[in-house]
Amino acid sequence: MPADKDCLFCRIIAGDIPCQRIYEDEHTFAFMDINPASTGHALIIPREHARTIHELSPEALAATALSAQKVATAVRDTLTPDGINLLQCNEPAAGQTVFHFHLHVIPRSKGDGLALGWPISPGDMDAVAGLAARLRTRLNG
Ligand code: 5GP
Ligand code: ZN
Repeated sequence: MPADKDCLFCRIIAGDIPCQRIYEDEHTFAFMDINPASTGHALIIPREHARTIHELSPEALAATALSAQKVATAVRDTLTPDGINLLQCNEPAAGQTVFHFHLHVIPRSKGDGLALGWPISPGDMDAVAGLAARLRTRLNG
């Protein structure tokens, strides 16, 4: 029985929807992305259903990060890519299309042209310092 019967990834964990599973443990599940950005593109998800990083329990987040490290190492050892990106999207404005928290492992090769970057240009350092002060207050009181 899926944790959330309307959630695609809960249904994949439950076995209701087929996938190419590569790893699972008590708290996490990993499988190949159906629309790979590159050869070896994999997804790691917590068994716990949570829409974004904000709703996910710290324990499930930690377990998912550890599984992502295992998957990334297996991808590195098996496919020997030039590099690997970990990607995680929250809300449609950030590119999220499936609303069950997940980490992408995306193998990269030199010159593959995948657009995950942004142009390097200096920020307004006064604005950056002001924002850092606000965040320090939020994080540390
Ligand atoms: P997001 O855009 O939410 O960060 O990533 C969702 C990912 O899930 C996409 O890369 C998409 O290709 C993948 N995806 C969507 N539906 C399925 C599916 O049914 N099976 C698998 N294996 N991947 C899926
Ligand atoms: Zn779910």
